[in-house]
Formats: sequence, C-alpha cells, structure tokens
Amino acid sequence: MSFSVPFDNSYADLPAGFYSRLDPTPVKAPQLLAFNHDLAAILGIAPGSDAELAEIFSGNRVPDGAAPLAQLYAGHQFGNFNPQLGDGRAILLGEVVGGDGMRRDIQLKGSGRTPYSRMGDGRAWLGPVLREYVVSEAMHALGIPTTRALAAVATGEPIFRENGALPGAVLTRVARSHLRVGTFQVFAHRGRFDDLKTLTDYAIKRHYPEAQGPMDLLRAVCAAQAELVAAWLSVGFIHGVMNTDNCAISGETIDYGPCAFMDAFHNGRVFSSIDAQGRYAYGNQPNIAVWNMAQLATSLLQQAEDKEAAVDGATAIVHEMPGLIEAAWLRRFAAKIGIAHVRQDDLALIQNLLTLMQQDGADFTNTFRALAGPDARDHFTDRAAFDSWSAQHRARLQAEPDPITTMNAANPAVIPRNHRIEQMIEAAVAGDMAPFERLMKALATPFASTDAALERPPTEAEIVSATFCG
Ligand code: AMP
Ligand code: MG
Ligand code: MG
Repeated sequence: MSFSVPFDNSYADLPAGFYSRLDPTPVKAPQLLAFNHDLAAILGIAPGSDAELAEIFSGNRVPDGAAPLAQLYAGHQFGNFNPQLGDGRAILLGEVVGGDGMRRDIQLKGSGRTPYSRMGDGRAWLGPVLREYVVSEAMHALGIPTTRALAAVATGEPIFRENGALPGAVLTRVARSHLRVGTFQVFAHRGRFDDLKTLTDYAIKRHYPEAQGPMDLLRAVCAAQAELVAAWLSVGFIHGVMNTDNCAISGETIDYGPCAFMDAFHNGRVFSSIDAQGRYAYGNQPNIAVWNMAQLATSLLQQAEDKEAAVDGATAIVHEMPGLIEAAWLRRFAAKIGIAHVRQDDLALIQNLLTLMQQDGADFTNTFRALAGPDARDHFTDRAAFDSWSAQHRARLQAEPDPITTMNAANPAVIPRNHRIEQMIEAAVAGDMAPFERLMKALATPFASTDAALERPPTEAEIVSATFCG
C-alpha cells in the first residue's frame, strides 16, 4: 500500500475571505526526525518510507486530496488588539476524520511565508519544533486536551534568529481545529457579520453540535477553557503566550511557544522572555482565560439582533467562568492530595500546602508525587510546618476510601522539565536524537516511574530560567 492521507476537508469550503490558498514553500533537503506512528494510525494515514514522509511533512510534496491554505485571524497580543494576524508560518493541508470518528486538522508549521507573514520568515527552527513535539505529546499523555505532533522534519536550510544561524525544521501539528478566539475577532472587528455567522455555525457543527446559537457556543467554550486552565495549573504548566489568537475554541492547548513546566513552585512564576509584566504568570492564567472569553463574547455579540439583551446574556455567561475554574481546580488539586470526594473546606487544606511549598521552593511535581509515600517532608525546609499540615492531611484522608490510588493517578512522576528539553535540543542540533527518544519514551507513561534521572529537578547549573519563542 502506498502512502496516502484520507483527506475530508471542510474549512476549504468556507468563503474565500476566511483564508488564502497556497502551497508550502519547498525546502532543500528534508530529513525525517520524528514520526508519530500511533497518531498516524488513528488518523488513517497509510504508512510510507521515511523519505516519503520527509517529502510530505516538509511540504515538498503536497499529498493527493490536500487543499493547502493559510487561515486568517486577528488577536489580542499581551492585551493589545492586532487586527490582522493569520497563519504567518503555517499551512493547513486539510482535515481527516479518524478511526475514532473525530475530525482533525493536519497543519504544517514552519512551512514558508504566507500573505500573513508580516516581517517573519515563515520558518521555524529545530529547537521550538522539537519542544512542541515533546511537550504536546507529554500533555496528551497527561490526559490534558492538546494539539498533537505527527511529524518533525529537518529542512536542511539555515534559519536566522538573534543568536545566529540555526537548523530549520517543520512540525506537523494535528488539532481538533485551528479555530481561535482571534478567528471570531477578525470578522467581528471588520464588521463582516455574515462571515461571523458562518464561522459561528461552523464552530458549533464541528465542536459543540448540541449548542443552539452563539450564546450556547460561548457557554461551551467557557466550560472547556475553564477545565483546560485548571488542568494546566494541576501539572504546573505555564503556557506563556495566552494571546487570544492562541486560545482554541475546541478547548485544546495550542501554540506551544515559550511554555514551561515549573520546577520549584511559585504562583507568580514566569518563564517567557517576552512577558516582562507577568501577564501570563502561572497563577494569573485563570484571570487571562476569563479575559479571553470576554473577548470571544464581545465578538459573538456583534451578530445579535437585540444587542442589549445579548450583552446581558453574554456577561452572565462570562461571569460564571471563575466559579467553573475554581470548581475544576478544587477537584484536581483535591485529587492531588488524595481526596476524591471534595468538601468545601478542602480548599484551605490545599492552599496551606501550596503556601508552604512556595515558601520553601518545593518542587511542584516531586512534592505532590511524594505525598503518597513516607518522604514528603524531605521536600520542605520548614519541617515543623509541614508536619503540622501533614497531621491535618492524614486526619482528612481517614474519610477517603483509596487516597493513594487517587494521588498516583493525579500526580505525574515525570514531566518535560525545561533543562531536559534544552539538553534534548542541544543534542538534536548536534545530530543526536537519543535524548529526544528517551524523553518521549518516559513521557508516554507519565504516571509510571520509568526513568528516575528524568524525574530529578535541575541542579543549580542546569536551571533554565527563561524560554523563548521560535
Ligand atoms: P505566535 O505568538 O507564535 O502565536 O505568533 C503570532 C503571529 O506571528 C502569528 O500570526 C504567527 O503566524 C506569526 N509568526 C510567528 N513567527 C513567525 C515567522 N517566523 N514567520 C512568519 N510569521 C510568524
Ligand atoms: Mg499563535
Ligand atoms: Mg507560535
């Protein structure tokens, strides 16, 4: 059987003003670095040779049935509205409906310039491509909604960034869709209300078929985003660029740029080198998720006949979101300390632990993981304070049937730590993919302890304090 992708495209049937049709720009010497065979099987992609996969997933050969295009969108970047963004370095090849009945986009990222590239080169370098590959697949294995990685291909061409020439690469990203808050914003902002309605209907049909109209859609997206941000917090994840153009309507994590998992816990932690104000700090992510939904509400409203009534309805929906996030947060963090049947006063027990962890700079992942064993107190410098908390915790767990199982299912043993990602990238640049393979293997089963060295926090010398966009 020869290589094929069972495309079944729908976005390409939307009005021409939604996108620009164009092919990826060919690259010099494509070489396959990684391919996700499990995901390919779900998508119904028939296998091909490495050379064939490299040709396809570099963009050098457009497969039969593809309808390549760059999507138009706008977005608030760090709070400032940019009326035109769009896929500046990505091309949607098309969609497939997988064996699980799910429609998914197949998108090349780093595939050349598009009409939306502005000053950019349309390319990506190897580092961010492999970072997104590893982190998005780790997120999936953690059970958190996310886009996935199908392939990474080296282009054989240099990319020029502040720090000089770097090896270029293309990532193939798979998503339930690439509809963003910013996709709604672009049509609302331009007064293209027919397109806004078309987009709303399309989003409902594709993601929330039970929704009856724009306000139902808003409610569904708010619920999905509330769950998502609580899930991020529960694993110490900091997205880093929660701009409205990086906020997916599907509720999947999208656009892994300067993202990071925390080592030592701090509510105000920021990694992104471009987030000087801490807008997207760990603990501010719930506020931003609500803010992003307020922008979606504002856009969806523009199509209402009775605007005043719609404003009231949308406001009420957005105002419910902090409560949704808190409930999801409480459920997840309660599980992390072994509580499956949450009570309202569990909130204080969790908060008190986090306060101690922050004071002592305790490692987020390893401290929670240790709560199920005898050594948790070793993670704290103020042992007396921890012992006092632990006594209350033990008392509370009397009422729980199986706290250890609850904890071990909620607290991963391994996460993609920054220093391991940096080491992996450095090795890959030098042509050694072994650290990538090793990370992928351990992160595929994050709740099982399979590679102790990858569980260790960074040494002083290994600490990565800032992450960069690619
Ligand atoms: P991001 O913050 O990565 O989500 O990107 C914001 C916008 O910049 C999107 O429209 C991207 O397509 C665009 N962009 C980012 N990097 C590049 C690049 N190297 N070339 C062209 N466009 C880019
Ligand atoms: Mg983006
Ligand atoms: Mg990006």
